[in-house]
Amino acid sequence: MLPHVPRAIVALTRDADEHGEVWIAALDCGHRRHVRHRPPQSSYPWLTTEAARAAKIGAPLECTRCAASELPDGASVYKTTAEFDEHTLPAGLRREHTTRGGVWGRAEVLAGTMRFVMPALGIDRELTAGEHAIIPPELEHHVEARPGLRMRVAFLRVAPD
Ligand SMILES: [Zn+2]
Repeated sequence: MLPHVPRAIVALTRDADEHGEVWIAALDCGHRRHVRHRPPQSSYPWLTTEAARAAKIGAPLECTRCAASELPDGASVYKTTAEFDEHTLPAGLRREHTTRGGVWGRAEVLAGTMRFVMPALGIDRELTAGEHAIIPPELEHHVEARPGLRMRVAFLRVAPD
């Protein structure tokens, strides 16, 4: 079962391909999710009136793509850290920390081995050279350096429309 990752709805638009029945919820993580009111399988009665939809802006909706550590479509790198090794890896990365809302991380292992731990998604694994970990926004995580590690972190976000 996927972990729960609620994200805030930032916009709701009709899916033009689906005769107005299906809505696209843009979430603050950068993902888009299709929602429709078709009870009992899928019950979203608030989709049926404009006032109810407007009231849902800012409300949480589960994001299964965040739960699966999938980068959103259109996410691009806007900043990359310096390269760190086992001695220079900042304390801030070694203890529990998060990225800001809407900011994705990609922890890239260039040499050696790094442990990557993200409890909310049940992730605890060793990454080796050439591997990376995708870090969804606002989820606590930390890394541990093994001898010989060289790594860096790229930060990504989805450019506004
Ligand atoms: Zn998401």
